[in-house]
Amino acid sequence: KKITIAIDGYSSTGKSTIAKRLAKALNYIYVDTGAMYRAVALFALDHGFVDGEDNIPELIAHLPEMELKFVPNPDSGKSDMYLNGQNVEEEIRTMRVSGQVSKVAAIGEVRTKLVEMQQQMGQDKGIVMDGRDIGTVVFPDAELKLFMTASPEIRATRRYKELLDKGEQVTFEEVLKNVQERDRIDSTRSISPLQKAKDAIEFDNSDMGLEEQFERIYDFSQR
Ligand code: C5P
Repeated sequence: KKITIAIDGYSSTGKSTIAKRLAKALNYIYVDTGAMYRAVALFALDHGFVDGEDNIPELIAHLPEMELKFVPNPDSGKSDMYLNGQNVEEEIRTMRVSGQVSKVAAIGEVRTKLVEMQQQMGQDKGIVMDGRDIGTVVFPDAELKLFMTASPEIRATRRYKELLDKGEQVTFEEVLKNVQERDRIDSTRSISPLQKAKDAIEFDNSDMGLEEQFERIYDFSQR
């Protein structure tokens, strides 16, 4: 029987890596909700609503013009994020977007719009969704909830390597600062703050390889 799997946790805890792998093994749909918030941040940046003099009311007023879509990419075997018809999969992972995303994700109107889309995508079971509020807000009835954690240094190291691989000019300190700052904003915002759902399994992967993580989590999904 197909179930709903909610994976939440701090930034760069490897949520998406494990969620992707799990979805593939179970033949489930995978949804990266962080990509959606990142696309909103890119939309806000492109229109000059954030970074510099912020204009959140204008951003909210223009939200109806923002079309978000996931389009399957046969090369990567996952979906790419599209913003108003443009593939923004690469751009949303840059530090420019990471620097603004948590602010944009704290806006109630943004969350209402995205949560509704996410609930629609998960209407039929057989979904693995990762984010910050999946087990608490989007799918409070999910059959399996995981809450991923790892030390900030380990998380920043993973993220730093990823960004270097993509050729971005960043220092480790900048990445560590961004990871910590996003976690702070995400956990303290007034609407749907990042927190572990009561019935979520806490999973610290600081000292765990991908294979071991996958095996353990796959086991949970089969119970
Ligand atoms: O998962 P990722 O690190 O790509 O998410 C980027 C940001 O999007 C997070 O730092 C958080 O501010 C926001 N987010 C959120 N709720 C989600 C997913 C992401 O607020 N469900």
